[in-house]
Amino acid sequence: MTENYKYPESFLEEVITKNDIVDVVSTYVKIDRKGKDYFGLCPFHSEKTPSFSVVPAKQIYYCFGCNKGGNVINFVKDIENLEYGEAIRHLAERANINIPIKNSYVDQALLLREKRIYEMNAIAARFFFENMKAQENNLAYKYLRERGVKSETIAAFGMGFAKKDWASLYEHLKSKGFSDKEILDGGLISKSKKDSLYDRFRNRIIFPIIDIRNRVIGFGGRALDEKDVKYINSPETLVYKKNRSLFGLNFAKHSKHDYAIIVEGYLDCIMLNQEGFSNTIATLGTALTENQALMIKRLFGQVVIAYDNDAAGQNATLRGLDILAATGCVVKVLILPKKDDYNNVIKDPDDFIKHKGAKAFKELLEEAMLLVEYKAFLLKEKHDTNTSEGLIAFLKGVAKAIGQVDSPVERDVYIKNISARFNTSYEALLKEVQEVGGKEPRPKTQIQASKYEKKVLPSLRDAKTTIDLTTIFYGILVILCNKPSFADQIKEDLLNEKIFHSDYAKDLLEEILLKIEEQENPDEAKVASMLDDEQRAIFIKQAANYHTISDSQKALHDYIKKYRHDIIANNNLILVKALESEGLSEEERINLEQEFRKNTELLVKYK
Ligand SMILES: [Zn+2]
Repeated sequence: MTENYKYPESFLEEVITKNDIVDVVSTYVKIDRKGKDYFGLCPFHSEKTPSFSVVPAKQIYYCFGCNKGGNVINFVKDIENLEYGEAIRHLAERANINIPIKNSYVDQALLLREKRIYEMNAIAARFFFENMKAQENNLAYKYLRERGVKSETIAAFGMGFAKKDWASLYEHLKSKGFSDKEILDGGLISKSKKDSLYDRFRNRIIFPIIDIRNRVIGFGGRALDEKDVKYINSPETLVYKKNRSLFGLNFAKHSKHDYAIIVEGYLDCIMLNQEGFSNTIATLGTALTENQALMIKRLFGQVVIAYDNDAAGQNATLRGLDILAATGCVVKVLILPKKDDYNNVIKDPDDFIKHKGAKAFKELLEEAMLLVEYKAFLLKEKHDTNTSEGLIAFLKGVAKAIGQVDSPVERDVYIKNISARFNTSYEALLKEVQEVGGKEPRPKTQIQASKYEKKVLPSLRDAKTTIDLTTIFYGILVILCNKPSFADQIKEDLLNEKIFHSDYAKDLLEEILLKIEEQENPDEAKVASMLDDEQRAIFIKQAANYHTISDSQKALHDYIKKYRHDIIANNNLILVKALESEGLSEEERINLEQEFRKNTELLVKYK
């Protein structure tokens, strides 16, 4: 199931050429021709005037508003929220291209068993939903309506009702041609000690769990009788894996928000959806797993955790935070008030939205805290900061949390925000941070660590400079894609002098030059497919603007000149800073000074 498998290039090329980007985009977005290109409203961000463009000549799309762009594969990946490999397969099927088999051995029997479970689940979901629709004597419907769930919402989520009967679903599935073994494998029936078979879900409200490709993978059931276990879920089956399933993904993946709200329960998710927060997903009552976190990261990149208001919820939040943060997700925590204005206890997001409404929930979302702020919040609850011992314990705890943040700039922002938010003195907190954990990192420590390798300079560059340099570099690559005859010149000017803003840039250029040597001229769509999302956005922006260049020879000359100059000048800035830092050894100083002189000579040469 891993997506790291690389398809043969000839296959990828066939997929790209047989799926014209204008055709594919048109099935999702209304685009109109203007000159050579097409324009329309961007499907990836909300806008009133079209800034989304499709360039058929280059087989790419680009949005001037949100900078999303790429080739036809990237488009399908983003709009359908698929993984890269899935997008390729989707397009291959669309164009009737045979998909090369990853492994020579494919277990056809296993695939068939999976297929049968999906079919069975769809039939079961329909069966439960029909029960729900029959409203007489239907406790499930009554319960949901009393909890504030609208009929439309019940239908949208396909919520169902499992009656008290012992075998009504079992009989139904038998009548549809499923064997006992298949129904057991699908987790819909259980076997008693006396070997008799009976429905797993009885006298329960049923929540179908639907995956990102709109298949029913399993079910959750809430008891209608207080005496029963409150929630049960499908057991693990071939298609239902607890550690990688999330509830509400089928809606959330179409939401236009760039972040997800994570809640604990089915009804939290459903009620927030009903109030317009379609980007809500539930973790199905289990602790968040790494697989789930990776999926969330891939779909959203940012999350707000809105767990229950009790100690268990708090602990789950902390665990979830760590797991999500480890994937590189930006994580925030939403804090629910303990009571509403009328002293009603608020246990979970469902309670909150019922008592306070969507607008108030939106305000909570805006105030959601970053990890370190949340840790400060918990410490503030634990310690009475009106006493001096309490205050010291609070400051020490917060300082420790801030000390774990790598970037000094970020640390300072935290010190400012937390001292303002929790009403403590900035100076006092700063002092603690410096004492407890926060050592001011100096360039010299990094230089010592790496014995001043070439890699040091790129890592010391600020983000903006890196983006500026990347932009110029991709300007050069776009010209190369359009005018492969400039290959020799670019090779001489950049490769021979080894001036690059990153190792990655050098590798990429070498790969493209190699293709040109092999008479295989790379176009922008192909180069785009070699880049990750962030890099691609910068590259495609340059590609989309190529038509504004009237003299490509002059443009190339100017780009190369600026690229070389800016890299060297920036390197010197960093070297000056490094030379100013204290505690350099004599050897380090000499190395730095040598590098500085060499750079300065280059700067004169490339003026
Ligand atoms: Zn856009």
